[in-house]
Amino acid sequence: MAAIAHPLHSLLTSKTPNHSSPRFTPTPKLTISASSFSNKHLSSRKLTAAVIGGGPAGSSAAEALASGGIETYLFERAPTSAKPCGGAIPLCMLDEFSIPPDLIDRKVTHMKIISPSNLTVDFGKTLKSHEYISMVRREVLDSYLRSRAESKGVTLVKSLVTSLDVPTSPNYPYMVNYTVNNKFKSLPVDVVVGADGANSRVAKSIHAGDYACAIAFQERIRLPDDKMMYYENLAEMYVGDDVSPDFYAWVFPKCDHVAVGTGTVCSKPNIKMYQQGIRSRVLPKIAGGKVIKVEAHPIPEHPRPVRVRGRVALVGDAAGYVTKCSGEGIYFAAKSGRMCGEAIVKASEGGERMVNESDLKREYLKRWDSEYITTFRFLDLLQHVFYGNNAAREALVELCGDEYVQRMTFESYLYKRLAKGNRWEDLKMVSSTIGSLIRCNLVGKEMELFDPNVVAKFV
Ligand SMILES: Cc1cc2nc3c(=O)[nH]c(=O)nc-3n(C[C@H](O)[C@H](O)[C@H](O)COP(=O)(O)OP(=O)(O)OC[C@H]3O[C@@H](n4cnc5c(N)ncnc54)[C@H](O)[C@@H]3O)c2cc1C
Repeated sequence: MAAIAHPLHSLLTSKTPNHSSPRFTPTPKLTISASSFSNKHLSSRKLTAAVIGGGPAGSSAAEALASGGIETYLFERAPTSAKPCGGAIPLCMLDEFSIPPDLIDRKVTHMKIISPSNLTVDFGKTLKSHEYISMVRREVLDSYLRSRAESKGVTLVKSLVTSLDVPTSPNYPYMVNYTVNNKFKSLPVDVVVGADGANSRVAKSIHAGDYACAIAFQERIRLPDDKMMYYENLAEMYVGDDVSPDFYAWVFPKCDHVAVGTGTVCSKPNIKMYQQGIRSRVLPKIAGGKVIKVEAHPIPEHPRPVRVRGRVALVGDAAGYVTKCSGEGIYFAAKSGRMCGEAIVKASEGGERMVNESDLKREYLKRWDSEYITTFRFLDLLQHVFYGNNAAREALVELCGDEYVQRMTFESYLYKRLAKGNRWEDLKMVSSTIGSLIRCNLVGKEMELFDPNVVAKFV
């Protein structure tokens, strides 16, 4: 792996660093020497980790690391701003990540899906009385998760990481280069977790390769009270060529406004046209509303070719953990961050030993892939079948009317576990899927992809 050209690199290879370099700011708390790296056991100090990015992935990784005895630094460049996001999270995240109820803006119990011909299905009919989809504002959730990580001993560094120097020898530290008040600083660390989102600099530093990205566009619109009432506990998903050629558009309710947005991979230059499309579809419901924020951001479409290299691991969007079809990434970001943090704690025996690439692959990547890769592949397949054209979207909405389909879908979404099916109902579901596709004239190439054996794994 090529080392990144950087003035600080000399610090790693030279025994007499040039302290007059304008970018060098000694970091008194940390003394990582080459000799301490050559020992597997860290006798006089704890393993030190830098987590780059303080979104759900980064905060969860940092919290797990610090709780497990690792000296942890969490870098976040914009702690007060809001990540562009719909903010829908599944029920299991509240329990697994102990999210306090007062962070939730809305509890959605009705989820309408609306076809190109305006066929509307309430997808949430089978939800039980205690079940709902939580709608949060990311500025609220992210700041809570960061503060909690701090309370576990994480040092939060409010700063932009400008680059990461990768050592030329496995026995040397990584250098995290960052700016505070226009001053350049550097921090030597043993391990790096790249949680810096879809435009990850950490991924670039380790040559992790690229992935295709969708672009998502969203407007936050404050509605008059009577119009907001309509979205009290309701979210809407719209499908159609007018709102996106390969994804869906949404209206998600927040405390005092709705988030109206859409996304596309294959037609990014036209994103504003699709946003106009969703605005037109919902116009009567948002009339009189005031746009309070306009935001856009890439959404990764696939995991990166490389997610672990050396002592660097990527998590969340930086790793590419967003499901196709639903565009869900918050839970997977938090989960992958925690899993990676726990993996480092385990491999380092609570910060006592140095870790290496095979530790990270074994304890983090292998576990992640065995738990989630099939789900990601399945949702990829569904997107291919159902979002391709308007006839397929009509079939999708028709299918969503089936109560068994709803129950299975929500079980998997809300609890992130494969729902226990009923063989007879499963067979009926596969045949009604095929029936819907046939009715919508979709038997053909797409049908070859819809292999009942693959479906059977999930039901
Ligand atoms: C419009 C839109 C709507 C979405 N809606 C939903 C939804 O409803 N539900 C859902 O589950 N998912 C949704 N997603 C996906 C979800 O937002 C992401 O999957 C999730 O935010 C990933 O979390 P993360 O922590 O990996 O990355 P991010 O949330 O992107 O966090 C990365 C953090 O790193 C910081 N950072 C980046 N570079 C640096 C640097 N060099 N130095 C220091 N800090 C840095 C950033 O400021 C940011 O805080 C949506 C995405 C978009 C774009």
